[in-house]
Amino acid sequence: MLHNIYFDYGYYSSFTEKVYLIKKYGFDGVFIFYDDDIDLKVKLIKEVGLNIESIHLPFKDCNSIWLEEIKGEEYTDLMIKGILYASKNNIKTVIIHITSKIPPKMSEVGFLRLEKILKFAKDKNVNVALENLRSLEYLDAIYNRFNYSSLKFCFDIGHACSFTKNLKTYPWEKYMDKVVALHLHDNDLKNDLHFIIGDGLIDFDYFAMMYKKFNLDLPLTSEAVGKRYCHLINESEFLRKTKERLEHLEKMIGETNV
Ligand SMILES: [Zn+2]
Repeated sequence: MLHNIYFDYGYYSSFTEKVYLIKKYGFDGVFIFYDDDIDLKVKLIKEVGLNIESIHLPFKDCNSIWLEEIKGEEYTDLMIKGILYASKNNIKTVIIHITSKIPPKMSEVGFLRLEKILKFAKDKNVNVALENLRSLEYLDAIYNRFNYSSLKFCFDIGHACSFTKNLKTYPWEKYMDKVVALHLHDNDLKNDLHFIIGDGLIDFDYFAMMYKKFNLDLPLTSEAVGKRYCHLINESEFLRKTKERLEHLEKMIGETNV
């Protein structure tokens, strides 16, 4: 099983130090945020031989995709730009958000923009993974409406346990034939805290059971971030602990009976 980590996890190291440390602590790959530094990040990550699992595209203004306004067009163009970047750099998947907090109503203009994004991604052979946030009915509507091979899913366990609080009650099987990425982090079951696995209250035994039941065959990817750790432990310790918890989770998956 591959063990990956969110590259932009914080702390104060340079990108060069980060790739060195991520490699040193035994991770196989990363996923990265799409920002002004992306060229440098991709270059350094590839140089040390880490995989790039996906690019997380920006989500500021993502609600605008549903609105008849120029911002919605700009957001669509940014998604297209990100997909093109992924394809040029042989990165298989982009992660996108299609709602934030209280989103506007679903709209025809929103579906048309999504169709444009999904078609473009299909032509470029890139997966567009929609991430579960607060409003799962938007995901349902999109998966019901579109059948593009580029349309995929990113399962974020922290969001399922803080935003929607439905890890065990929601029929996740609806999406499991489309899942291409796992975002694994922990929290207090109330807030989206992005703790290291095992530092919060999420039932990872249940996740291990899901992984086995749905035959996921995907990298275990940590999306823990350093902001609640950097005053407590140094960066090496943060990475060592994150890796150790992924190893433990892999063991739990192996020992699970379903
Ligand atoms: Zn996530």
